[in-house]
Amino acid sequence: MDTYQSAKEDVKRSADIIDLIGQFVQLKKTGQNYSGLCPFHSEKAPSFTVSPARQMFHCFGCKKGGDIFAFWMEYHKVSFPQALRDLAGKYQIPLPTRNLSPAEKRKKELKDLLFIINQTAAEYFHSTLIKSAEGGSGRKYLEKRSVSKDIISEYKLGYAPDMWDGLTRFLKSKKIEMEKAVIAGLLIQKKNGGYYDRFRGRIIFPIFNLRNKIIGFGGRVLDDSLPKYLNTPETPVFQKGELLYGLSSAYSAIRESGRAVIVEGYTDVLGLRRHGFNQAVATLGTALTKDHVRKLKGYAGEVVIVFDSDEAGKRATARSLPIFLNEGVSSRVMVLPEGEDPDSFVNKNGLDSFLDNLNRSIPMFEFFVDQKLSYITDGVEDKVNVLKEILPVLSGLNDTVQCSLYVQQLSENMGITESVILTELRNFQAHHSGKGNKRSIGEQLSSTRSRNKDGIHLLNLFINYPHTMESLMQVNYKALFSDTIMAGLFDSLSEIYKNEGKIEPEDILDRLGDDQIKEQFREAILLPSIYPSDTVEDAINEFKDRIQKLELSQSFNKAIKRRDMEELNQLLKLKKKRTRPN
Ligand SMILES: [Zn+2]
Repeated sequence: MDTYQSAKEDVKRSADIIDLIGQFVQLKKTGQNYSGLCPFHSEKAPSFTVSPARQMFHCFGCKKGGDIFAFWMEYHKVSFPQALRDLAGKYQIPLPTRNLSPAEKRKKELKDLLFIINQTAAEYFHSTLIKSAEGGSGRKYLEKRSVSKDIISEYKLGYAPDMWDGLTRFLKSKKIEMEKAVIAGLLIQKKNGGYYDRFRGRIIFPIFNLRNKIIGFGGRVLDDSLPKYLNTPETPVFQKGELLYGLSSAYSAIRESGRAVIVEGYTDVLGLRRHGFNQAVATLGTALTKDHVRKLKGYAGEVVIVFDSDEAGKRATARSLPIFLNEGVSSRVMVLPEGEDPDSFVNKNGLDSFLDNLNRSIPMFEFFVDQKLSYITDGVEDKVNVLKEILPVLSGLNDTVQCSLYVQQLSENMGITESVILTELRNFQAHHSGKGNKRSIGEQLSSTRSRNKDGIHLLNLFINYPHTMESLMQVNYKALFSDTIMAGLFDSLSEIYKNEGKIEPEDILDRLGDDQIKEQFREAILLPSIYPSDTVEDAINEFKDRIQKLELSQSFNKAIKRRDMEELNQLLKLKKKRTRPN
């Protein structure tokens, strides 16, 4: 085994897969395995399964799966070498140095360099804020907003002085290549040569990823000038559509409480933090996306959106409802008094009052309907249009009791009888059936079984009792499979068994080339054993019997096709012998 492989094995031995994946996905124990909502596709019922015994995960919905490395790569969107480095670092396993391809090497070096440049810039901004003369206006601003020294140092806040070349000169003095600082989004190249600072006259909020590296910055002006917020543009290490400010320090509190609170601004996150509330995160000036919600649902079953009570804020909040419904995350809305944001509110009224409001937040659906109804000015046409907008949302509700309550509410508020709404709802659902993924794991499994029942059952028998391969190799097991995937899988398995005399299911996975074959194998591995140990012999005999029957009927068909009467007579005799009771 090469040293790389052995480091990989060491990491696998040190890591607990439930622990590791549990940091990103809420897992519940179900029998021998754990399950949760898949972070890789939209679903409302959990089909994402993790097996501690097998140290692997598998999603019965989107079929993604594998070991801890596969999870890390998929979740953090990194390559295998990066996943190995990350996990080896996490579990303190020393890694041998490996020769990367030139392209891999360049990519890795660039990313590493961008982290260093960001870190260097953050130090410059931070020290400017806390001790330089140019940082005075930044200090005054944060003081006025009651941002404490502890928060400034915990979140490494900074200040970009109002000058064109403050950071440029600093980076130069640190021997940072200017072109690379442009790639990091910190400097901008002038048309006639030379560089200038992107962030000027702004409070700087470094943005950390979950691995605690600075990947970018948000900058806020001190006055009302525009743009109010300026972020690092997209770079090789910064994709803002899925990032949440504050998540790196909030996620454990969010997981503990099961609730995440989304606020609008960075200072809202910090204001709440200062008062001891550590479950708030902010989007980076973008609308809420499904990627944000998917990230959060790994930690929280419920998300509360706190928004400014202006019209734009209300509309944006209402628009996010379908995202939450699609991701199966319960969502609520907290409305603040006019003119207040969470930061100003908690500073004025204290945390208890904020929590009080939070606990009285209203379900997003109710808020959504209220919003829509408030647009109705007159007559029937308006009502029909609003109903059309509400129906898709209504039909997305999992809870039928909840749904009928809402129908009742709608009927009262809109002055339309319940039966009309229900008829419309049924019509809508009839036209949109098959959408969404509402099937439970059990249903999904049973559909797998009916599609390829014999194959999965045989595989399950074999995985739990590898010695059965000995008997199975004596017969034409392929007769049992309707598809070539299963047949190919068994060929590989019997080959390995023949050569090595044993089979370790988890090790086999890595050696199966085809992705579809891997999927089927993972599913069979994660199913609990179908056959109790004292029925193994019977099971083998049953399979043998089925194989013989199948072979016999195939021969019949062939003989009939050829009109070979002699062969048919032979086969009939054979059949009689088989069916005669002993
Ligand atoms: Zn999935």
